[in-house]
Amino acid sequence: MIDQQIGALFVQIAYIGASAAFILGLRGLTKPDTARRGMQLAAVGMLLAIIGTLLNHEIVTYQFIIIGLVVGSAVGLPMGLLVPMTAMPQRIAVSHMFGALAVTLVGIAEFLHYRDIAGGPGVVKMIALGFETLFGALTITGSFMAFGKLQGFITGRPVTFPGQKLINAAVFLGAVGLYVTLVLTQSGGATGDAGLIMFAVMTVLALVIGVTLVLPIGGADMPVVVSLLNSYAGLAASATGFAIGNNILIVAGALDGASGFILSILMSKAMNRSFANVLFGAFGGEKAAVSAKSAEGLTTRSVTPEEAAMRIGYARNVIIVPGYGMAVAQAQHAVRELAELIEKRGGRVRFAIHPVAGRMPGHMNVLLAEANVPYDHLFDLEEINEEFHACDVALVLGANDVTNPAAKNDPGSPIYGMPILNVQDAEQVIVVKRGMATGFAGIENELFYLDKTSMLFGDAKSVLSQVVTEVKGL
Ligand code: NDP
Repeated sequence: MIDQQIGALFVQIAYIGASAAFILGLRGLTKPDTARRGMQLAAVGMLLAIIGTLLNHEIVTYQFIIIGLVVGSAVGLPMGLLVPMTAMPQRIAVSHMFGALAVTLVGIAEFLHYRDIAGGPGVVKMIALGFETLFGALTITGSFMAFGKLQGFITGRPVTFPGQKLINAAVFLGAVGLYVTLVLTQSGGATGDAGLIMFAVMTVLALVIGVTLVLPIGGADMPVVVSLLNSYAGLAASATGFAIGNNILIVAGALDGASGFILSILMSKAMNRSFANVLFGAFGGEKAAVSAKSAEGLTTRSVTPEEAAMRIGYARNVIIVPGYGMAVAQAQHAVRELAELIEKRGGRVRFAIHPVAGRMPGHMNVLLAEANVPYDHLFDLEEINEEFHACDVALVLGANDVTNPAAKNDPGSPIYGMPILNVQDAEQVIVVKRGMATGFAGIENELFYLDKTSMLFGDAKSVLSQVVTEVKGL
């Protein structure tokens, strides 16, 4: 008995330590220079949470837990090591799908378990386990849809049909109605098969909601959706914590739910979209058709790596604007080398980071940190935007939409209103990209046709390596 009490105390201490590590870890993630430490702390927190859970005296057998740990590690390790940075949004969607699957299975197991117990789960537990199953199930299919749209095996275009919103609303109300009925009728104990059927139908409807929720949203908005699903998975996990009386699940789920929700709002803001517009606007497919000024009759100037090296090598004040192309080319190490060379030659180099450059929040920060670019060289949009006036060369590295002046001066543009980096204010602009392909939003960029702009065509990594060699020879 005393042993059991000591064990329970140990579990609670592990959980308190894990909660503290999660909170401090999240705090660390708010700044680039403490982000790595933040991730490590969060990982330690997760280890403590797992150890605490494994020591729980209520565990009947370790057999299935060990199988789960082995299978989970076998899937998770290669995923962490092999999935490229550019595919991170879809990898995160898959993680949410598995998390939500676990939560939903626990919800179903708990519901079935309480059917055999006189007195039932009680109102609070019934509310919690119904909620976790409802939100868990819709997160499973929603995350799968987001994964498919990002990976390209489900169309990235918004799929809409007449009456869709009405049908979606009806399915949603149906599921919520069943949930409320279950709480009202099943909290005190099982009443025949009606409860079981209601629970099954609610779960199936929730799975349908996941599909119908994501179907009308365009591929362009998927990262916002993934972040929102992150929030749902967190809330469902928190409800699981209430259902099975596990404190760490309550804390971690609440942190996950809140941070996912805040991130979704921040991402919507950075794209100048209202949250409701992302969820109900069917934006992603229309935009290529809207406006999208044609480049017909416009010409570009191209430069060779040698010419570019001359301009960059002798510049005093350089601002580098990284974008998705830098990530694809994995050019972050080459650009760090170039920045060091310019500084050795007495120039100043800063990196301008747009909040939605790349394909996920913080994409550029992560890559540049990996290449050991000093954190104090990275500047957010608000910090750097007024500085382009005074800069000799703005080097745009595989960025497109985040530099598009149409966001400011073309009210018909699908990205009109999105905050952009004021690259066009620089004295001269060098744009590194492979050809004249559009960016994520699928629209022309008039920056490329300005007199002050020179195009340096080629893969960002190989072109930059050539520029580095040339600058070394100056
Ligand atoms: P863009 O997608 O606008 O443009 C990237 C450019 O990189 C392309 O025009 C492409 O041109 C070029 N490129 C591709 N591969 C290479 C390569 N190997 N070497 C050199 N260039 C290459 O990127 P941005 O970062 O400017 O903008 C991000 C977009 O993604 C925005 O529209 C944003 O709203 C959207 N988005 C971002 C999210 C986020 O969280 N970060 C979330 C959701 C959407 P070419 O093929 O000619 O080389």
